[in-house]
Amino acid sequence: MADVQLIREKLGVHPDFPKKGIVFLDLFPILRDPVAFETLITHLVHHLTSYTIPNAAVKKIDVVVGLDARGFLLGPIIALRLGAAFVPVRKRGKLPGQCDTVVYEKEYGADAFEMQAGAIPEGSNVVVVDDLIATGGSAKAAGDLIAKQGGKTLEYLFVIGLPFLSGHEKLDAPAYSIVQSD
Ligand code: IMP
Repeated sequence: MADVQLIREKLGVHPDFPKKGIVFLDLFPILRDPVAFETLITHLVHHLTSYTIPNAAVKKIDVVVGLDARGFLLGPIIALRLGAAFVPVRKRGKLPGQCDTVVYEKEYGADAFEMQAGAIPEGSNVVVVDDLIATGGSAKAAGDLIAKQGGKTLEYLFVIGLPFLSGHEKLDAPAYSIVQSD
């Protein structure tokens, strides 16, 4: 598909960032190109509005959850297009007020994600957005926070998937990525 091709071509590729041996895939060249950025958002919104989510008669997505930090660049735009709420999941200590917390394992030790208490109304239909899924640890932590607040995660959306890491297998709902990288 031409839109997928455009998004793939525009992704930045940075070997040995942030450390040796890691190839960092960079979303920002897409955001610098208004046509590519519009294509990316339209692709995800079209996916959400035309795709029948398995085993669910979904009429409306109530909440779009964006992950710290690049999920914050995509999630609010998608939420506005859907007429849905946007809710951020942030690293511990960044959100004011009472928060729910989930600790998860990263490559080197544990990290924690938080969501403001009461951000997701009980029974809400929720989708999660981030730029990339690697091990799936961040997305799973977000899914755990959503479940803790009584939301139902319908799908996890990413620009880039790394299927060889099998991160999607950790999740409680299907994962969709526009581009798959190896
Ligand atoms: P996971 O928790 O192992 O799935 O890692 C995903 C998180 O790490 C996401 O929040 C991504 O933004 C970030 N991440 C890992 N690798 C990359 C990359 O190559 N490009 C952009 N973000 C990355």
